[in-house]
This record gives sequence, structure tokens and C-alpha cells, in this order.
Amino acid sequence: MCGISAYIGFREAYPIVINGLKRLEYRGYDSTGIMIFDGEEMQLSKTKGKVSDLELITDNDEVRKKGNIGMGHTRWATHGVPNDVNSHPHFSQSGDLVIVHNGIIENYDTIKKELINRGYIFKSDTDTEVLVSLIEEVKKRENCKLGQAVQLALNTVIGAYAITVFDRTKPDEIVVARLGSPIAIGVGEDNKEFFIASDASPFIEYTKNAIYLEDEEMAIIKIGKKVKVHKIHDDSKVDPIIQKLQMNLEQIEKGGYDHFMLKEIHEQPKAITDTFRGRLLADKNMIKMSSIDDNLDRFLNANRIIIIACGTSWHAGLVAEYLIEDMARIPVEVEYASEFRYRNPIITDKDIVIAISQSGETADTLAAIKLAKSKGAFVYGVCNVVGSSIARETHSGAYTHAGPEIGVASTKAFTTQITVLTLIALKLGKANNSLTDDAFNNYLHKMQLIPKQVQELLKIDEHVKSIAAVYKDATNCLYLGRGFNFPVALEGALKLKEISYIHAEGYPAAEMKHGPIALIDENMPTFVIATKKGHYEKVVSNIQEIKARSGKIIAIVTKGDTQVREIADHVIEIPETEEALTPLLTTIPFQLLSYHIAVMLGKNVDQPRNLAKSVTVE
Ligand code: GLU
Repeated sequence: MCGISAYIGFREAYPIVINGLKRLEYRGYDSTGIMIFDGEEMQLSKTKGKVSDLELITDNDEVRKKGNIGMGHTRWATHGVPNDVNSHPHFSQSGDLVIVHNGIIENYDTIKKELINRGYIFKSDTDTEVLVSLIEEVKKRENCKLGQAVQLALNTVIGAYAITVFDRTKPDEIVVARLGSPIAIGVGEDNKEFFIASDASPFIEYTKNAIYLEDEEMAIIKIGKKVKVHKIHDDSKVDPIIQKLQMNLEQIEKGGYDHFMLKEIHEQPKAITDTFRGRLLADKNMIKMSSIDDNLDRFLNANRIIIIACGTSWHAGLVAEYLIEDMARIPVEVEYASEFRYRNPIITDKDIVIAISQSGETADTLAAIKLAKSKGAFVYGVCNVVGSSIARETHSGAYTHAGPEIGVASTKAFTTQITVLTLIALKLGKANNSLTDDAFNNYLHKMQLIPKQVQELLKIDEHVKSIAAVYKDATNCLYLGRGFNFPVALEGALKLKEISYIHAEGYPAAEMKHGPIALIDENMPTFVIATKKGHYEKVVSNIQEIKARSGKIIAIVTKGDTQVREIADHVIEIPETEEALTPLLTTIPFQLLSYHIAVMLGKNVDQPRNLAKSVTVE
């Protein structure tokens, strides 16, 4: 999970590496470090904490900052507690080699013991320090160049990695390699400089040309030379494809908002519109998605669709189950990728697997995709990050086009995933005649209104803030919803847990009686989605049951509702739409609520403790 940022070229490396780390901090932020090569020595600074802490210890030390080669890391610890020593970069035993690493070396313990037998001494508890000393050992033993040593060493390790390695005795090159964790190389004009990073955000103001390494590839980056890429396992050469980056600086900055999360919540009208663009053609009564059209027979003849995902994406998958079964009458199952991959599932070539992941790098989802493919299933990906591993690994798919999402708690990624999945459900429903033309056309027109309705809904911010102030000190919260809105209840509870650390449970409203009702008392707020058509009367009964036990009710209702208003402690109105489309609206107040509660509690909204944005370890 961690972020890697490195530079080799003619500019001062320090500001480039530090700014790069700041942009990658969403990936991990428990400890951090930087190495700058001053022409002779490698100046190393490491600390527990965030990149701002690293700046504090390096800022006034001009000597430690001078040099045109550098690498930095912002860590999400897997091996060894987050402290100064375990932070990256790590030196090899002799101090000649230095590494930053994203991932896990699973057999590090065996290798470590062997190296200790050979006299190696380790300072940290990390798997990473073992890897860099292994590279050094191989380099000495084989008397070879750095690239070859990295390759030979990697062929003996088991695990996942994106690594950047530098040798101070040969200071014109950097070696990078990847298996399972992403790495991008920004190529400067005439190959005079190179930027290495976990994603392209650290270098977009310097170059729009990027090489994304594929799994099992490594690159030798040398000033003034074209990047050389070859396979790690069999030495074969690869012609690197230089991609033109579409991202711009504005997209990855806060743009006047206090937090990325708030910015991203407010970006949803645009993000949903971008997801529609070229696909939802309401005036022509059609949905254009070539990734579905090109595989339509497969979808229509599928035995079932299995959706695999983790976290918020799993919640979007659950909404899709309700949508696809309702609109297209195709059986759907939704699975946690981490369970699916290890439970020996029955998959056939008549199954379709839809894999959902914002980053497109989620390790468990990626492994589940590989498993499904090996059993002959057709795999369709729904991701946000263009060119990500999942996008490349799947047979076909659709991007959500939400733009970079930096806040660790996912917001616009969720609504845009639901948007794409709704389009798919509608398209399949129309194609197999499960939906009448009238129903289909009506959905399209209602769908087109959603971005404006979200925009309208965002005006309730102050109202939601006042509700947040009332419940910010709660220690437990319950979120209830039914049908299409049951997954929204799960997502609402997850948002609160993630950023405010308040315990919250999402439940199908009717299930409340089978357990959670025991928790209800005057201190327990329950957030209920009670929109007009979704089993409204039943949910109203659930609200009565909670009120009868002195529980507090905050209800999300359809505009103009009077019945719930009479019994609830607070109501939040959403605009009227078809019930199947309400998740795109009901989720917005929950996002704002979690945001405001977390801010009021003084939590770090964009970087909640223990979490990271892109979960590239299993
Ligand atoms: N396994 C390494 C460590 O614990 C790297 C973790 C990461 O990807 O941040 O230091």
C-alpha cells in the first residue's frame, strides 16, 4: 500500500520527491523517509509520522537536501511497527545500495536467516531490508551489475513488490521492478530526467509521458538513455509503451476545500455526468456501452453474474445485485474478493465475473480475477484508474471516469460505480426484454436528472452539519435500509467508522429485530432510509419500534414526506426519483454526516488511522 516517489536527473531531487510523497500519502502514512544522493554520500532522513514530519526534520538542513537523485517512501507497515528505523528507504549491509518497497516479501524470514548465517546484521524488522541485502549478496556473489542482481534476487523471493533500487557506486541509474504493486515511470524530455512513482500524480507538472510497468517487469533507468524494460523471470525484452497522461494538476489539488473528501463529495454531480458521457443517450432512448455490446451474447446467456469486490466497492456490487436481478432478471451473487479467492468456488465458462475496484490495484480482487479467468469465466472490470492492473487483467470493462479520488474514505468512486452498474443493468434488461421500452426510457430520463438532483441535495450541508453536532459523541450508531438502500446503509456505517472511529452497524431494516434492537436506548442514534416507494410502510413500522424504545431517529425521506417527519427526531429530504436510482441520492447525506462528525471530533478526515486508499496487500 505505501507510496514511492523517486527522481533522477538534473533538478534538485528533494522538493520533487517530497511533493510526490505528499500526493501519494493517501496510500499510506504511518512513517516516511527520503534519501538524497549528494554526489558521494546518500543522505538519509526517516521518521515515524507523516511527510510533514519528515519536512520538519529535513527542512533546515540544506546539506541533506542537495542532490539530483533521490527516493522517498510513505509507509503502510506490514512487517515491523511504524517507527523511525522501520521506515524506508533501507540501506543494504555495506551501505552502498538503497531501496524503497511497496508490498510484502513473504519468504523474508528464511532469506533473513540465511543472510544472518553469512554475517549480515539487520537494523529493522522489515522484509524490505532483507530484500536489499539479498540484492547486495547476489551482486557480490555473481559479481554482476545492479540490474542483474535485482533480477536474480527477485527470482528467489515470493510475494508482491514495487521496488526502486539505487547503487551509490554507480550513480547514473535506478532499477525498478514490479509484481503486484503499481509503479509508473515519468520520462522527461530527451531522457534527461526520470520520475518514478506509485502513480503518475507526483510528476504531472514535469512530464505527460509515462511508462507503467506490467507485473513481472523491471526497468533500468539511465540518464540520457531510453528506459530498458525486460521480464524478471525470463530475461526477454519488452518494448515499453509510453502513455500520454490525461490527468492535470487541478484534479489532484484541494481546490479551496478543507479536505479532499469534501471536495470529492461536491464533485459528484460532475463525476456522475462524466460517467454518463457518451453512454447515456436519453434523447435517443439508448445506452451506448461497447464493452457490453461486444459481449452481449455472453451476458445474455450467462448462468449467473458473480460480483467480486472489497469494502465500498463491495457495497456498490450489492446495489448492482438488486439492480441487475430486478431489471435484467439475471441471477447475481456478490462476494468479498478475499473470501472468493480462497474458498474453492465453483466457476464455469458460463459465468460472468464483474470485478469492481476504484484503484484497479486491490490485491484480493486482482487475485480473484486471475482465479476466475483460470476457470474459464469471462471477467468484466469496473475501475476508476485508467490503465490500472485490473483494467488490464480483465477481458473487458468500463471505467467510472470519476477523476482522481484522494480522500481515503471513498465517495465519488462509490456513486460512479453505482452509475456504471445501473447503466449495465438497464442495458441488459432492455436487451433481454425484461424491461419494457417504456420502463427503460423512463429510467433513462430519470437517470439523466441525477447529477442536478445531487447538486440540489448538496445544499443540505448546513442542515446535516447541525445533525452531526447533535450525534458526534455517540459511541454506537445503527444504519438501516431496505432493498436498493440496504447496501447504502452498510456504506453509511462504513463511512462513519472509517473516519470518525465511531462504531456503526449497517443492517437491513427488518433484520433489526433479530439482534440490534437490543442495543437501542436513548443514547443510540439510528439513521434510517425511508424513501417513498421502498417498502415505505414497513420501514415506518421499524421506526416506530425504535421510537417505542426511546431510540433517536434520523430519517432520509423523499421530499414532501409528512408521515416520517412526525415521528423522527430529524429528517433529511432527498429529491424524488425511481426507487432503483435512490442509492445515488440517499448516500450523499451519509457522506456529509460522517465528514462533519469526523471534523468536529478533530479526526484526520483524508488520512484516517490504519487505513490506506489502495489496498495492494492481501
Ligand atoms: N513490507 C514493507 C514494510 O512493512 C512495505 C510496506 C508498504 O508497502 O508500505 O515496510
